Amino acid sequence: MSEFIIKGNIGEASRPRKRFWGKAAAVFLAILASGLCRLESAGAEEVRRIKIIAAASPNFRLNPRWRREIFERIAFANKIFEPQFGIRFSIKEYAFWNPRGEMFEPAGRVPEDFRALAPHQAADEIVMGFDKLTKPLGVKRSLVRERIGAAAVMQGVVVIRDPFDYTPPLVSKNTVAHELAHVFGANHVADETTIMYPKVSKAVKVCFDEANARIIRAARNMDFRKGPLSLSGEALETIGRVLRESPGFIQDGNFITHRRNLESIRK
Ligand SMILES: [Zn+2]
Repeated sequence: MSEFIIKGNIGEASRPRKRFWGKAAAVFLAILASGLCRLESAGAEEVRRIKIIAAASPNFRLNPRWRREIFERIAFANKIFEPQFGIRFSIKEYAFWNPRGEMFEPAGRVPEDFRALAPHQAADEIVMGFDKLTKPLGVKRSLVRERIGAAAVMQGVVVIRDPFDYTPPLVSKNTVAHELAHVFGANHVADETTIMYPKVSKAVKVCFDEANARIIRAARNMDFRKGPLSLSGEALETIGRVLRESPGFIQDGNFITHRRNLESIRK
């Protein structure tokens, strides 16, 4: 269980190089995703086009290239979802959002965030709230798990909360792909090498496990306003069967977390 621990600030001098390798790695992984990960091709079905309403918080907008940042994460998700499931996301609009969620809450005000984002939603739209967490003051616990992404399963609402300091681009991209998969009913799995592993880790994640791939494929035509009831009887039966037959699923909420060592960043 090798969790990714971000310690302190990564030196300015090393950033451009890291960014370059981050980009090179993203291209490489996208090629992997469209080749090796293809458990079963999307088939002859028409590509399902889904619009994203990207609602960014004031904190997220402090980054001058915040629109580009969102665009690149969605583009990365497309490289995984389009070849495997015939699903393509495009950004419909950038909207404002004032999040209520806090960083260290036990159960989370994330549901409040979901309710605040949901009213914009239509059948072919997913609303994604993007926030950037602020550096905590006076936190006593030395280790916390930050929720850096959450999704309302089969309801088309996602919350992304970037850690306050440097995060490797691939982690941000993986988080978006992970939460979008929850929207189609995907569950957490214990396999660290797959996208639905619920923690940020050092492992490269561009593939879905077979059970989740079957669920997403069955749910690909879902109407996000109506939820699972909009699916055909056949699709619901497939999803039910996968849920019954897949002991690898973990029931721990639909959050992706990473563990931060606060002692190392408070200095
Ligand atoms: Zn999750």
